[in-house]
Amino acid sequence: MRNITVLSGGVGGARFLQGLLRGIADGSLPGVSPDAEVTVVANTADDLWIHGLKVCPDLDTVMYTLGDGIDVERGWGHADETWSVMEELRAYDVEPTWFNLGDRDVATHLVRTQMLDAGYPLSEVTEALCRRWLLPRYGHGVRLVPMTDDRVETHVAIADPDSPSGRRVVHFQEYWVRLRASVPAELLVFVGLEESTPARGVLDAITGADLVILPPSNPVVSVGTILGVPGVREALVRTSARVVGISPIIGGQHVRGMAEQMLTSIGVEVSAAGVGLHYGARTSGGVLDGWLVDSSDSGSVGRLAEAGIPTAAVPLWMSDPQTTARMAAAAIDLVRAP
Ligand code: GDP
Ligand code: CA
Repeated sequence: MRNITVLSGGVGGARFLQGLLRGIADGSLPGVSPDAEVTVVANTADDLWIHGLKVCPDLDTVMYTLGDGIDVERGWGHADETWSVMEELRAYDVEPTWFNLGDRDVATHLVRTQMLDAGYPLSEVTEALCRRWLLPRYGHGVRLVPMTDDRVETHVAIADPDSPSGRRVVHFQEYWVRLRASVPAELLVFVGLEESTPARGVLDAITGADLVILPPSNPVVSVGTILGVPGVREALVRTSARVVGISPIIGGQHVRGMAEQMLTSIGVEVSAAGVGLHYGARTSGGVLDGWLVDSSDSGSVGRLAEAGIPTAAVPLWMSDPQTTARMAAAAIDLVRAP
């Protein structure tokens, strides 16, 4: 296998990619050529305009993580960050104050916003940014592509007794960063998703791949939105590539993030089996040829197999790239042609 495509969110996807790339580099992935190329199709429904800047959290998390520029402790944003811009904005009483923009990070958003203003699509802007972060490390071995060049935003309806409708709608980032996903998400609205078109290269990356991986990213607001871009799900259904997914839920709970709140809001059981069944077997109109669950969820293997989804159970904690590489190897082994 030479062409691998990964449909990624931010933190979960980026950690998985670190392990996958480690596995490719050390030759430990079954059937994967050492010069395999990885295309990352990243979620952009978390994107927001803030203080006049276009911010793409998932693209940046993948870019900084793979480019070794991520703040490892925080899990997002630039390493060695300072916060003078934020302090100055606060001194002006400029809202919103809940979204943190580090000084170094601001430079990324300035470059992006300028290029968008000059008429470049997000996919070309991303390519330009990756010339700094990915090209020197991976050559053409890793390509990062936004799911769409169009503006798509996940919005979350939450209860608000002060509003006449009893509800208030906030941007996904406000739900996550300001509210810390601490209140139920009553409804999710993916603004612009149905009208969006895949960015250049997205469909080809799926139909032309040997292997497509759904990493342990949020199944609703990361992978779910990518699958929601018209044409993407169909490409997955018809690709000759094998498609394998890895559960973001371990023992009925998400590890980092808020998959629990998102799954609950769309009525999907919060379990490894629930997510696997939600994606569905490719043999019956879904997107999976195989599904990896954590060892502690091995009890659900039978139920998934009955639904036509070959499933294996291995440790799914992505504690370091080497452990994650073993997880990637198990996923690939599950769907590899005999
Ligand atoms: P986000 O965009 O930053 O929220 O990141 P993703 O959507 O890519 O991934 C978030 C999801 O990754 C979380 O909801 C978790 O369910 C999952 N996750 C994070 N760390 C781990 C891990 O170590 N193992 C597994 N199996 N899932 C994880
Ligand atoms: Ca995200």
